[in-house]
Amino acid sequence: MLATAQQFAGKAQASRKNTADARGRLLRDLRLSVIDRCNLRCQYCLPESLFGENFRFKSLNELLSFDELERVANAFIGLGVEKIRLTGGEPLLRPGIADFVARLREQNPDVDLALTTNALRLKRMAKELHDAGLDRVNISLDAINPDAAERMAGRPFSPQDVLDAAETAREVGLGVKLNAVIKRGVNDGEILPLAQAARDRGMVLRYIEYMDVGSSNGWSRDDVITGQEIRERLGTISELTPEKPVTYGEVARRYRYADNGLEVGFIESISRPFCGDCTRARVSAEGELFTCLFATKGIPLRAAIQREDFPALLRDIWLHRKDNYSETRQLTPRTNAQDVPEEMWRLGG
Ligand code: SAM
Ligand code: SF4
Repeated sequence: MLATAQQFAGKAQASRKNTADARGRLLRDLRLSVIDRCNLRCQYCLPESLFGENFRFKSLNELLSFDELERVANAFIGLGVEKIRLTGGEPLLRPGIADFVARLREQNPDVDLALTTNALRLKRMAKELHDAGLDRVNISLDAINPDAAERMAGRPFSPQDVLDAAETAREVGLGVKLNAVIKRGVNDGEILPLAQAARDRGMVLRYIEYMDVGSSNGWSRDDVITGQEIRERLGTISELTPEKPVTYGEVARRYRYADNGLEVGFIESISRPFCGDCTRARVSAEGELFTCLFATKGIPLRAAIQREDFPALLRDIWLHRKDNYSETRQLTPRTNAQDVPEEMWRLGG
């Protein structure tokens, strides 16, 4: 059985604050987006048809500066955040990202610092990021076959290069996990090749159910392949045994292959919503706070970041948080035309 927020709070370091929202959920994770632009055009995130060559992303001076990002991160850490995940857009496109990691690490030796990336620039940056104090990278890769990878990512790239970058990251000392979004009829033929590539390298792979984030991807429930369906297909490789969750607010359901003991995870936001213990706050690269991945509105923070009462403002927002969209999407579908959900490339995943 899942431990309660209170039980986990009891185990948290005495010096850490435990800020629980209106549903009793602790604030533990911050997804901090450092840039909105990206070098891929994944069809489920930033489709080329809508975000082509002429699409104008924010210029660097419209994004939060590293000083502002640092104040945001430190304020959240003061409220109980233990993990910060840097994301985007593609976070490795932000000039100076490794120096920013070093600044965060210097001030927060105990915080878990992770980064989510498509890894197109990771091979050459992995050592610098590790030396700066980054703990882990999650690498997004939806196919091993180059044609299927291009279908998903909207632009050609080499999946083999991404796998090589993953190995380099591991060699320099970073924790590495692979993440794959599966869309029916587009890359479901890649479920087994992805599993094989991860197993060959002894890497944890997490399959992500295709989500109805944003309004640009034309999401349909019919395109979703559930975690259960993926597990059934993986059964042809090896039996899977379920693992118990070890931390409060764990996103992935973890299993192990019975034959080699390697972990494989499933992020099942559609078929098994995990709003009940969601510990995540998200801040976009322009400084809007989102208390849910499926939010339709962000709370602009930029004007308040330098204020002395900034941490108190964040605390107040978290205390009033009630979001549980994934649990209610089927019961109360969005009907208001104004309820346009925010896009994934602005929220960072
Ligand atoms: N560009 C980086 C990357 O792709 O890893 C970081 C940002 S990306 C928005 C973060 C994660 O969100 C990626 O793993 C991506 O696959 C996932 N993602 C984006 N849109 C999604 C959707 N509609 N459903 C499920 N996952 C999605
Ligand atoms: Fe870019 Fe990541 Fe979105 Fe793909 S999922 S378009 S790599 S931000």
